[in-house]
Amino acid sequence: MSVTPELALSLDNRFVRELPELAVPWQAETTPEPRLLVLNEPLATQLGLDVSALRAPGGLGLLTGNEVPEGATPVAQGYAGHQFGGFSPRLGDGRALLLGELTDPSGHCYDLHLKGSGRTPFARGGDGLAAVGPMLREYIVSEAMHALGIPTTRSLAVVATGQSVRRETLLPGAVLARVAASHLRVGSFQYVQTMGDVDLLRRLADHAISRHYPEAATAAHPYLALFEAVQAAQASLVARWMLVGFVHGVMNTDNMTISGESIDYGPCAFMDGFDPGAVFSSIDDAGRYAYANQPVVAEWNLARLAEALLPLLDDDQEQAVALATESLGRFRDQYGAAWSAGMKSKLGFAADHDDSVVLPLVDQLLALLQDTRADYTSFFRSLGAAARGDAGPVHALFEGDQQGLDEWLNRWLALGPDSTAMERTNPAYIPRNHLVEEALAAATDGDLEPLGRLLEAVTAPFDSRPGLERYATGAPEDFGTYRTFCGT
Ligand code: AMP
Ligand code: MG
Repeated sequence: MSVTPELALSLDNRFVRELPELAVPWQAETTPEPRLLVLNEPLATQLGLDVSALRAPGGLGLLTGNEVPEGATPVAQGYAGHQFGGFSPRLGDGRALLLGELTDPSGHCYDLHLKGSGRTPFARGGDGLAAVGPMLREYIVSEAMHALGIPTTRSLAVVATGQSVRRETLLPGAVLARVAASHLRVGSFQYVQTMGDVDLLRRLADHAISRHYPEAATAAHPYLALFEAVQAAQASLVARWMLVGFVHGVMNTDNMTISGESIDYGPCAFMDGFDPGAVFSSIDDAGRYAYANQPVVAEWNLARLAEALLPLLDDDQEQAVALATESLGRFRDQYGAAWSAGMKSKLGFAADHDDSVVLPLVDQLLALLQDTRADYTSFFRSLGAAARGDAGPVHALFEGDQQGLDEWLNRWLALGPDSTAMERTNPAYIPRNHLVEEALAAATDGDLEPLGRLLEAVTAPFDSRPGLERYATGAPEDFGTYRTFCGT
């Protein structure tokens, strides 16, 4: 089959050509009644895709995997992964397909990928399907992350399939079309590690270098340079999550990319009040992936990547371990530097402002925040008003030690924070949990309006606009404890 000619889409099959051992050619399940729920027109345009052709039946065929463009070889990708610390040697795309690689008009290469497109040979006990709610959730959160300037996979469209999905109840099914720099994961390297095939490992590493870190190819030690580049990208990424109060929720090694993009928005959530122990996922009883643990988990996952790469780092195992350990030893400083620079920016100071003056202020502020229920996002946003001389909104939000807050504000204001810069760093609109739930419940019942309004707010998060006040406000008191679910 070929896709409607208006789309004129050509997809490469580079992954399966270069790494056939990691790919199972497969096709999507037939979608009985595809119905477009949301299409990301700016992203489609950026990719050089024709928006009206995507909305036409041939476009929906592409977005559900039912029509395969010329030259494409859709595949389920194999990968392994540590899930909550336990190793699974064979996970892979149980309900997803890589359609192929797409080159946009500016020459950048992206994976076009589907989630919820039916069972694959990696499905194990799963049904291969996805429900409308969780796919729209990934759409909302990934597009919000992108608008916040945080590296992430993007969402191109969500198409309702017309098929029901059995979870605790029967839910409407959907397919998400996702775009990513690639879908290489730490777990992809672990999968090859289990095969013990050093030639394949080298091909995978070369593929990763070529797609994400071409400068590593000319480094004195390309594979160590690859590892160091992934480490730097992840240190920066996780710092960005921490600064906006994002809790990924399932930082298994199969959910950590080589590109440094955030991926797999399952049980993720933004915290409401500041809480280092914030956990939302219903299955994370031990809090392994709690807010404050994320940098430690990232480091742990990177150690797993380093182990998988050892045969490429040096022929001598001891020397290979020494190289990896030396590199990993720099992670904490890299993460700390990214986080400190971000916190300085949130408080209105340039990156070169004296750390010894600003960082104690950051610590004091976080200690104050931990003792209040103040909405984390709203609090930082309203500090911008305080920097312009109106401390009213900050005080109104803050239910704790008002005198302590005043003392802190005076010390901070004395340093002359830049309120305009703060408004470019501290968002007004994020996908707050109660708003996401409201939009998903309505969409599941067929009403897409709340979703549209929420997307309008979170895709321009730094520009406060009249009429969107409720999107800039924390959860109502009666919202209660928020719980999220995996693999839905
Ligand atoms: P995740 O937690 O979404 O990253 O998924 C972990 C693993 O479970 C991956 O290998 C997924 O492909 C697989 N998986 C999750 N949900 C399903 C499902 N409904 N059917 C088949 N496989 C699934
Ligand atoms: Mg995953």
